[in-house]
Amino acid sequence: MRLSRYFLPILKETPKEAEIVSHRLMLRAGMLRQEAAGIYAWLPLGHRVLKKIEQIVREEQNRAGAIELLMPTLQLADLWRESGRYDAYGPEMLRIADRHKRELLYGPTNEEMITEIFRAYVKSYKSLPLNLYHIQWKFRDEQRPRFGVMRGREFLMKDAYSFDIDEAAARRAYNRMFVAYLRTFARMGLKAIPMRAETGPIGGDLSHEFIVLAETGESAVYCDSEVLNLPVPGEDVDYDGDLTPIIKQWTSVYAATEDVHEAERFDREVPAERKLHTRGIEVGQIFYFGTKYSEAMKALVAGPDGVEVPIHGGSYGVGVSRLLGAIIEACHDENGIKWPEAVAPFRAAILNLKQGAAETDAACEQLYRELIAKGVDVLYDDTDQRAGAKFATADLIGIPWQILVGPKGLADGTVELKRRADGSRENVALAEAVARLT
Ligand code: ATP
Ligand code: MG
Ligand code: MG
Ligand code: MG
Repeated sequence: MRLSRYFLPILKETPKEAEIVSHRLMLRAGMLRQEAAGIYAWLPLGHRVLKKIEQIVREEQNRAGAIELLMPTLQLADLWRESGRYDAYGPEMLRIADRHKRELLYGPTNEEMITEIFRAYVKSYKSLPLNLYHIQWKFRDEQRPRFGVMRGREFLMKDAYSFDIDEAAARRAYNRMFVAYLRTFARMGLKAIPMRAETGPIGGDLSHEFIVLAETGESAVYCDSEVLNLPVPGEDVDYDGDLTPIIKQWTSVYAATEDVHEAERFDREVPAERKLHTRGIEVGQIFYFGTKYSEAMKALVAGPDGVEVPIHGGSYGVGVSRLLGAIIEACHDENGIKWPEAVAPFRAAILNLKQGAAETDAACEQLYRELIAKGVDVLYDDTDQRAGAKFATADLIGIPWQILVGPKGLADGTVELKRRADGSRENVALAEAVARLT
C-alpha cells in the first residue's frame, strides 16, 4: 500500500474525549471514528487489525474442533421468551419492531438462537460432541459506553456454543475452549489470565474470565503472580487427548475476580510477595451452564439407550473488538502503538527520507516491489512529508519493522532497519532488508 493513496486520517491533536491511552491512540492513528455513543466506524487501519485478530481467534477455534457458522444480528423476541430471558435481560437489550409490528431485538448474545438451530437438526447422541461458533456484531445498550472499543454498544464478539450428552463430556468441551483461549491470547502477544468468575445472567456453575492485567481495566482481580509464568500449550496440543493436566496446572494457582474472591484462601495460599491485587480487562469468558437452555427450549437428544435427555451446554465468548484496546494498553510507548507482529496492520513500512530524489525513489520502489512479491504486508510512505513527520507517523501507527531509506545510507548501498518494539536500528544492505522480513 502506498501511503499517498491510502486513507489514514492521522490526528495531530489528542482528542479530549478519550480518557485512556488505547482510545487516544486509536483515534490519533486514524483507526476508528465514533458515529454515535459506543458505535464506531472502522477506518482502514483499524479494520486491518480487527481482521487479523479475528483470524487468530478463528484459527484457534478451528484447531480446537469448533465449527464456524454465521447467525444474524437480529433475532425474534419470541425466541427469547422461550428461555425467559426476554423480560429478564433489561435495558441493555435493544428492542426493535419491524413494519408488521413484529418484535425483534439486536442480539446481545446467541444462546437461544443456537439452541433453536441445534434442536431443529440434532436428535441423537451420535452427533455429539458439537461446538458451533460465529464471529458477529453484538449490541448491548451499555449504561456507560466508554474507553472506545473497550466498552462499545455495538461490538464484535466470537461466541461458541458446545453441546454434549452429559456433564463429563461438557466439561471436556469446556477444557478444550479453556486451552484454545490460552493459545489465542498468547498468539496476540497478550498475557490473559484465566480467573474464576461469577456466571451472571447466563447461569450455570463453572466459569472463567480471561483477564489482561491493566490499571485501566474495569474488573478488580486477585491473583498469585506465579500465574504469569505458566507455560501456554503449543500448537501440537492434542485436543482429543486428556487436557486435565493443563487445566489443573492453570487453575491450581490462585486467580479470581472480585465477585468470587475468597480473602481467607488468598491469604492462606499466596505468599505476601506474590500477592497481586490489581485491575484487568476481560477479553473473554467461558461458561458451563448445564441444561439451562436445553430444558427450557426442549433441546433433547436420544442417548445410547434411546431415552431422550436435555443436552449439556456451554458458551464461550471473546471480545474481538475489545482486544484492540487491550493490546494497545499492553503495547505502547510515548510515541504510539507497538503492535505485536501477529496483529500488526502492516508488517513493515518503507520510509522514503528524501522523496523525489532519484536514488531514494528507485531504492524504495525496488524494496516495495520485492516485499510485495514475497507476500509481506508493507506500507510505503511515499508522501512528501519531511523525514521527522514520517518517523512520527510510523511510530504512532506502530508498524513492527521500519525500513529507513536515505541518501547517506544508499551511498554505501545500505538502508536502516528499525524495530518498533525496542527501537533498535541496524544498517543492512537492501537485499538483506528484504531477506530479514521474509
Ligand atoms: P463486561 O463485564 O465487560 O460487561 P460481559 O461479562 O458482560 O463483559 P460477556 O457476556 O462475557 O461480557 O461477553 C463475552 C466478551 O465480550 C467479554 O469477555 C468481553 O471481552 C466482550 N464484551 C462484552 N461487552 C462488551 C462491550 N460492551 N464492548 C466490547 N466488548 C464487550
Ligand atoms: Mg457486560
Ligand atoms: Mg463481565
Ligand atoms: Mg463476561
